[in-house]
Order: sequence, then structure tokens, then C-alpha cells
Amino acid sequence: MTERLIIIGSGPAGWTAALYASRATLKPLVIEGVDAGGQLMKTTEVENYPGFIDGIQGPDLMQLFKKQALRFGTEVKSEYVERVDFSKRPFQLFTSQGSYAAESVIIATGASAVWLGVPGEARLQGHGVSACATCDGFFFKDKHVLVVGGGDAAMEEANFLTHFASKVTVLVRKDVLKASKIMQERALKNPKIEFVWNTQLQEVLGEEKMTGAKMLNTQTNEISEIAADGLFVAIGHKPNTEIFTGQIELDQKGYVVTQPGSTRTNIEGVFAAGDVADHVYRQAVSAAGTGCMAALDAERWLASC
Ligand code: NDP
Repeated sequence: MTERLIIIGSGPAGWTAALYASRATLKPLVIEGVDAGGQLMKTTEVENYPGFIDGIQGPDLMQLFKKQALRFGTEVKSEYVERVDFSKRPFQLFTSQGSYAAESVIIATGASAVWLGVPGEARLQGHGVSACATCDGFFFKDKHVLVVGGGDAAMEEANFLTHFASKVTVLVRKDVLKASKIMQERALKNPKIEFVWNTQLQEVLGEEKMTGAKMLNTQTNEISEIAADGLFVAIGHKPNTEIFTGQIELDQKGYVVTQPGSTRTNIEGVFAAGDVADHVYRQAVSAAGTGCMAALDAERWLASC
């Protein structure tokens, strides 16, 4: 059996694509993964998704997205896609459970923040530890927060956090920043930002919530503790595109390349939405927006075939 549309991924982009496609009677199949729901499953309070005036927990929001898509006939498989063949139509998708054929595909596999992998970091995610200042900065009013990283993202996060935090300490593993000059200058000039050089974060401290961190000076090998209420890890993001390598055009950093102003990829009938094709905005609402676009693009493309 050949599906009309398969959507790979179950974050805001995937479910929004499914909502639109199911209301267009395409009966989409969402292959949601096993650890379904995307980055919002690891978030606590979401206060910037429009319509939820009192905020909502990330996992609850994803449940609502899913329910709304199911209401119009979306089908779901809790499997991981392990391999795809986009070289001919119908497209083939292989999971650990079997294989699927589809006339069209929407890639919505998202991106993952790169984490430090130190003790305490995973346990305190959502309780002080975050990888998104836009999402969580607001919760750190008049608090002291740490930022790890020396690139543009770290500078941007640090500057943004000064709108809320009383102090931002940036831990840089070298004695130079990788960030562009203009971003560096902005951060270096900001009186609320302090830089600690040649320093690697070793452990996040705290039981119920973060209280500080242990850090290592790589020059002196000295280990010290710093008290802080929050930690923003800004050492990069990785798009979840391993399975598409060689099948579809990816940019240098591995993001799916889409044609400007659309969700079309270089393969006719394959579309991409959400963070997998966006290293700039990375927001639930922008992912949902491109999920809608991908469903409309797929619907129009299917109608023209
Ligand atoms: P980058 O790869 O540019 O920078 C990552 C930074 O994290 C580097 O300073 C790196 O250190 C550091 N780092 C990596 N691993 C570790 C680790 N284990 N411990 C401590 N530090 C670590 O990633 P970004 O996310 O900053 O940026 C990604 C892309 O997005 C870039 O092209 C950037 O220009 C762009 N961007 C642009 C923005 C803007 O213009 N407004 C805002 C945000 C991103 P080291 O220097 O030692 O390698």
C-alpha cells in the first residue's frame, strides 16, 4: 500500500503538518519516533506559545497538538525511520518494524541542542538548566545565570539574558571567542556580563533545582564552585538528518535545504519543516508555521501530479 503523505517527526512542525493534511483529507501517516514529541518534551513551562495566556507545560502542549491531529484522521506509528530511499517514487521509508511507501514526504525530524554531558545537567533540565534563553530567560528575573559557549549563540543568549538576570557569567573554554566581532563587542561591553576564560563546566550542582556549578580552570587545573540559579548551554545545535545523508540536499551544517519562501526540497514531493530546516528561529511557533506550509505545499504538489 502506498500512503499519500508520510510525515517523519512529531514536534510542533510534524503535528501541525498532520493537522492541515488530515483536514485536507490526505489521511497522513505520522511516524512519530519512540521518544516522541521533540524538544518540548524536555521543557517545563512554555509561556510564549500564543493562545496559552497562563503558559502550558511542554509535554502537555505536545499532547494537545497530537490530539488535534488525530481528531481529523491522522494515523500514527511509534517507530523510528532508520533509512529512506528518495531516489524513485513512491518513496521508501524503512523502520525497525518494516517499510512504508509514500507519494510524498514531510521531513520534520527537528534538531537537538548539543549538551555538555556533565553530571547534573540532564537531571536539572527544566529546573535551572536550559538550552534556550528565548524560551526560559524570563524565569530568571534578578537571578545569576551561567552561559557556556563562545560562539554567536552564546553571545546572543548572554545579551538577551541581561534583560532578566541580575548577572550573567559566560564560561569560555579557551581564551578567545569564536563569535563574530560585533556580537563579541556587544557582550564584552555589557556591564551585566562577566567572562570567565579557560574554563570548563564540570558538574551542575543542586537537588530539586540548580544552585551552582563546579568548574575547571584548564590552565591551572584548579577546580572551583560558582553559585548560580541557571545554566544556558549554547554550544551548538545538531539537525536530526543522519538518515537523509546522500538522499537529499543538506547544507554544510547538515540542515535540509529548502527553496526560499517554501518548504520544497531539491527532491520533488519531499518537503521539510521546523528546526530540521531552520537554524535561525528555532521556536515552536515558527516550526508549527512551517509545518502548516509543508502540508499546503504537499497538498498542492499531490493535486498537480
Ligand atoms: P558555534 O559552533 O559557532 O560555537 C560553539 C561554541 O561553543 C564555540 O565557542 C565552542 O568553543 C563552544 N563549545 C563547543 N563545545 C563545547 C564544550 N564541550 N564545552 C565548552 N564550550 C564548547 O555554534 P553557535 O550555536 O554559537 O552558532 C551556530 C551558527 O549559528 C553559527 O554559524 C553562528 O554564527 C550562527 N548564529 C548566528 C547568530 C546571529 O548572528 N544572531 C546567533 C546565533 C547563532 P570553541 O570556540 O573552543 O570551539
